[in-house]
Amino acid sequence: MAKLTVIGAGLAGCEAAFQAAERGVEVTLIEMKPKRYTPAHHSPAFAELVCSNSLRSDSLANAVGLLKEEMRRSGSLILAAADATRVPAGSALAVDRVKFSDFITQKIRNHPRIHVEEREVTELSFDGVTVVATGPLTSDALAAYIRNDLGLGNLHFFDAAAPIVDAASINYDVAFFASRYGKGDADYVNCPMTKEEYDAFYTALITAEEAELKDFDKQSQADLKVFEGCMPVEVMARRGYDTLRYGPLKPVGLTDPRTGKEPYAVVQLRKENREGSMFNLVGFQTHLKFSEQKRVFSMIPGLENAEFLRFGVMHRNTYINSPGVLSAAYEVKARTGLFFAGQMTGVEGYVESAGSGFVAGVSAARRALGQEVIPFPDVTMLGAMGAYVSRGGVGEFVPMNANFGIVPPLDHRVKGGKSAKNEALSARALEALEAFLREED
Ligand SMILES: Cc1cc2nc3c(=O)[nH]c(=O)nc-3n(C[C@H](O)[C@H](O)[C@H](O)COP(=O)(O)OP(=O)(O)OC[C@H]3O[C@@H](n4cnc5c(N)ncnc54)[C@H](O)[C@@H]3O)c2cc1C
Repeated sequence: MAKLTVIGAGLAGCEAAFQAAERGVEVTLIEMKPKRYTPAHHSPAFAELVCSNSLRSDSLANAVGLLKEEMRRSGSLILAAADATRVPAGSALAVDRVKFSDFITQKIRNHPRIHVEEREVTELSFDGVTVVATGPLTSDALAAYIRNDLGLGNLHFFDAAAPIVDAASINYDVAFFASRYGKGDADYVNCPMTKEEYDAFYTALITAEEAELKDFDKQSQADLKVFEGCMPVEVMARRGYDTLRYGPLKPVGLTDPRTGKEPYAVVQLRKENREGSMFNLVGFQTHLKFSEQKRVFSMIPGLENAEFLRFGVMHRNTYINSPGVLSAAYEVKARTGLFFAGQMTGVEGYVESAGSGFVAGVSAARRALGQEVIPFPDVTMLGAMGAYVSRGGVGEFVPMNANFGIVPPLDHRVKGGKSAKNEALSARALEALEAFLREED
C-alpha cells in the first residue's frame, strides 16, 4: 500500500493530504495543535485562517479568481469548504472562518485513508514520501532543522492581522451599510469621516505606540520587512497623508445617507460570519499595542464604543529559499520524495498556499504510487506558481501572490483592455487544466 506523510494541517497540508488520500494513498497527517500553538493560531480545528476571512476576488479577470476556479474544477477541499461556508462580501469570496475550518476538519478526520497524529515534528526521518507544510510560523525547532540540517535557507518578512469588533457595538446612527457604487448587496458597514475627523485620526495613528518587538530578532522597527499586501495600517499611513485615502480608506463610490455626499474618507468593515454578528476592519492589519488600537480605532466614527473581540497582531513569516532548490512540483531536487507546500515555499496568501498544497499533494501521491510526476501546465495559475517558486524572479526571492505576470503571454492580441486580456488568459488556463486532469486520470 502506497503511503505518505504530511506535516502541518493548515491550508496547504489539508489540501495535500486530501488530494493524496483521494488518489488511493494512505496518509499520516501530523499536526502539533492542540498540544502546541503558533503565536497566530488559536483554534484546535484544521486550516485555520489567521487574519482576514476573505479569499479575495472571485472574478476570472483576476489572477486569484482564476486560481480558485482551477482548484474548484480540480476537486479542491479548501474551495469546497469556502463555497459551502461563504458569507456575503460583494465580489469577494469571504467565509465564516469557524464553519470553514470545521468543514475541513470533519472531511480530514472522517477520511478512511487519513490518519491524524497530534505532535510537533522537530526533524525529518525521510523514510518515505513526505510533504512539509508547516507554514510561515513553523515551530522553532523544525525551522532550525530546515535551515541548518537541510540547508534550505530561511528568509523572512512580517505579516500583520486586523482586529475584529462585535457588530452590536457599532453605532449605526453614524455607520451605514452599502457596497461601493451600490454594486451587489450592501454587505459592508461603512464608517464615514469628515476632513477634521480624518486629520485627528491620521495624527493619532502615525504617533501611536507600537507593540514590543519581542522575538523579532531585535530588528529596529523601521527595518521590519513587511509584505506589501498585508502592511500594517500605521506603516502605510506614515507613507503620506493621503496614502490611506487612496488605499483602504478610499471613499469613492460611497454616499453617506445622512449627508447625501461622498465622505472625505471611509473605513469599511466586512462580515466575519454569515449571521453578521462580528465584523473585521478591512485593511486594518496592525502592530500597535492593544491599548493603542482601542484608543485610536475608537476615534473612527461609528466605532466610538466598539467592543474589540480580537486585536490585530504581527508575526514573523518564514519561508525557504526555493529557487533552484524546489522543482515546479515543490519537490526538493536533491532529495526525491521530499516536498514542501504552502506559504513556506514563497507563495503568499491563503488560496496560493492551498494551491501549492494541491500541486504538492497530487505530485507526492504520484511519487508514492511509483508513477511519474507530471508538471502542471505553466499556463495555469497552479502551474505558474510552482514554476515561479522553483525559478524565482529578478533579484532577491520575495513571496508572491497569484498574478498574471507569472504566466506566459498570449500568442495573439486581445481587444477590450486589461480585463478582456485577463479573461483570455483564464480561458486558456482552464482549457489546459481540463486536458491535464484528463491525462492524470
Ligand atoms: C499574522 C499573519 C497574517 C496573515 N494574514 C493573511 C491574510 O489576511 N490573507 C491571506 O491570504 N494570507 C495571510 N497570511 C499568509 C498565509 O496565507 C497564511 O499564513 C496561511 O495560513 C498559510 O498557509 P499554510 O498552509 O502554508 O500554513 P498554516 O495555515 O499556518 O498551517 C501550518 C500548520 O502547521 C502546524 N505546524 C507548525 N509547525 C509544526 C511542527 N513543527 N509540527 C507539526 N505541525 C506544525 C501549524 O500549527 C499549522 O496548523 C498571514 C500570515 C500571517 C503569519
